[in-house]
Amino acid sequence: MTDRRKKQLQRIKKAHIWPSLVGIIIKIAVMTFIMHILLLAYFENIVNMRLADANNNVKNAVEIMEATGNADSMSLLFRYRYLTGMIPEIEGMCRLDKDDNVTESFGTERFDLASFARFNTIEDDDKTAEVYIAQNQDGISFSENEGFTIDVSETIEKYLVSFNPSTLIDVISPSAGWNKEAIFSTDLWYVIDNKQTEGKTAVMYRFSLTREDFGYVIFVYVLLGLVFLVLLVFHSISVFKVVAAKRNIYKILFFDMETGGFNAPHFYKKARKLYRRIKRGISQYAIVNIRLEKYRSLIACYGKSAIETLTDMLYNIISQNAGSKEAFAHMESGDFAMMLEYTSEQELSERLKQLMQQLESVGNGSRLYFNMGVSRVTDAKGDPEEVYNQAYIARASINDENADSINWFSEKLREQQIWERKVENDMQGALERHEFQMYLQPKYTTNGEKVGGAEALVRWIHPTEGFVPPGRFIPIFEKNGFILQLDDYMINEVAKYQAKWISEGKKVVPISVNVSRAHFLNDNLAEHIRNIIDSYCVPHECIELELTESAFFDDKNALIATVKKMQEFGFVVSMDDFGAGYSSLNSLKELPLDVIKLDAEFFRGEGNDERGKLIVTETIDLAKRLGMHIVAEGIETRDQVDFLKERECDLIQGYYFAKPMPTDEFEKCAFS
Ligand code: C2E
Ligand code: CA
Ligand code: CA
Repeated sequence: MTDRRKKQLQRIKKAHIWPSLVGIIIKIAVMTFIMHILLLAYFENIVNMRLADANNNVKNAVEIMEATGNADSMSLLFRYRYLTGMIPEIEGMCRLDKDDNVTESFGTERFDLASFARFNTIEDDDKTAEVYIAQNQDGISFSENEGFTIDVSETIEKYLVSFNPSTLIDVISPSAGWNKEAIFSTDLWYVIDNKQTEGKTAVMYRFSLTREDFGYVIFVYVLLGLVFLVLLVFHSISVFKVVAAKRNIYKILFFDMETGGFNAPHFYKKARKLYRRIKRGISQYAIVNIRLEKYRSLIACYGKSAIETLTDMLYNIISQNAGSKEAFAHMESGDFAMMLEYTSEQELSERLKQLMQQLESVGNGSRLYFNMGVSRVTDAKGDPEEVYNQAYIARASINDENADSINWFSEKLREQQIWERKVENDMQGALERHEFQMYLQPKYTTNGEKVGGAEALVRWIHPTEGFVPPGRFIPIFEKNGFILQLDDYMINEVAKYQAKWISEGKKVVPISVNVSRAHFLNDNLAEHIRNIIDSYCVPHECIELELTESAFFDDKNALIATVKKMQEFGFVVSMDDFGAGYSSLNSLKELPLDVIKLDAEFFRGEGNDERGKLIVTETIDLAKRLGMHIVAEGIETRDQVDFLKERECDLIQGYYFAKPMPTDEFEKCAFS
């Protein structure tokens, strides 16, 4: 898995959870802030209200003092507005002389309505009361400074500055005990000038927040708590939605669209988990690629939805065959993956064979073909994707699609892969640098045993690998299409040398060149080859084109049309490796060929001598009657030469006479 993909997965995993948590934290912070603002505003309001009341009271008192002229006496008459609730707040009073020294002071622990009742009658009807406080009232005595240094505005400031709701919370907490006492108090002195006499009277008010005030606090807290709860519910719903959305994303990421089962990313994820078991030495694992062959043609025959249903059934069988400590997935098209525990290769192969049988039974009448590639997990720190890829390669290297085989990934296969990479990397440059060389293998006449023709065979003179025979790279080029370029190159080489030799006055012989199956997809193949040959002004009869029977498997009619065109242009067309395939006789019937090249296999194999000879005899006979020439390939012994001579075979190509050779050697061999 690439780093980018890993990061994306991580991001999806984390997505929304952090924003959700941050959301909750922000909400709590905002709620707390609002609560504090509200409480602050409320307490400020209380203080202001009480200050206003106190002012009023003092004003009243001054009015009364002035009106009654009582102020110089040792007693003080206050008229209070009963409703204000401020009477209980007066803490004490004192008399001051003109130098602000305390001359008298008195106070009570707390004035309350009951205290009033002690001294006076309260007139309920007009809600006022006249209070006379006796001269020798017991009470708090005030020190000089305490009494006169506090100024009203300063006190309010102090009050507001020192107001700290957390202190309040502390006080109301049950452990602190709840009582009617003030939980926060501040004192405020009012000084009243006694105009009639020298001196002043000071009255102290105490502003207290009491338990009753906290009713509001509790109300605010409960209200905000409820709001918060509602928000929390909404928030939780949104979090649940996010979780659900994430599950859906996971489904899309890790589930297969076709079967609804696990897909490749899920497989690798689980495989990585199972790797831990390998690391701990608990189990041995192998990864398997299972392929339903001919997937596309099945879709073409039965339709997409039928094959989707089939894939689903196969997936079910595969899932039933996997244990809980094993992994499986539908990778794509007809490919499935499994990661299986195993003790021995034989045991796992047996298990896979049984699975293959189960899978085939799904065909229900129509034959299904499966192939499997297996690769052992050897490196517990490695990447399961790589191992799956090896299993895939092992499966892909099974030649016959219909084989129903199981192939284990091996070192040889790895080397083959590496070689293929190398060939593919080097091929284009090699063509440009002329590393491909044309070798010629002479064909000898049976009467006279002279060079009557030759076949052009390519050799790769690799700068580091040295001499590379075609068997090591032609199949790779056939797979990757480079064979088209290579064959063109060889046709050019043949034409070039023929032109050279003709211009030198040599008596040239026809040279055959191999035309790969892939060329026949080109409708203008005959014209294409003719144009190359014509560019060297070489007579067409000097060139022979060898095609293999396998070209027959493609579009037969196109092949026949091309061959006919080649012949019209004057090229000799031969069928290579005649007898090596399965339908040689058939192609003989339909293809109007000029030459057949008997495959070397006819002359190999011990014990089969007589039968082989019989077939060769009959084939030569048949070909002759069809007006064809015959070339025998791979002839290595004198006996074989004598036999072919007797049967009037036209040409012989084989090591007995000569191996493929470079052009300069061929010149000596053919023209001397
Ligand atoms: P082929 O076309 O059937 O070529 C004949 C092969 O038989 C050649 O192998 C040749 O060296 C070999 N041979 C000839 N006489 C004897 C003999 O007496 N004994 C044995 N054991 N072998 C003999 P080579 O050159 O290795 O080529 C192998 C195959 O590679 C060719 O089979 C052909 O299919 C392919 N090939 C070679 N050059 C080209 C090319 O330029 N284009 C294409 N498309 N294929 C080529
Ligand atoms: Ca050939
Ligand atoms: Ca051949």
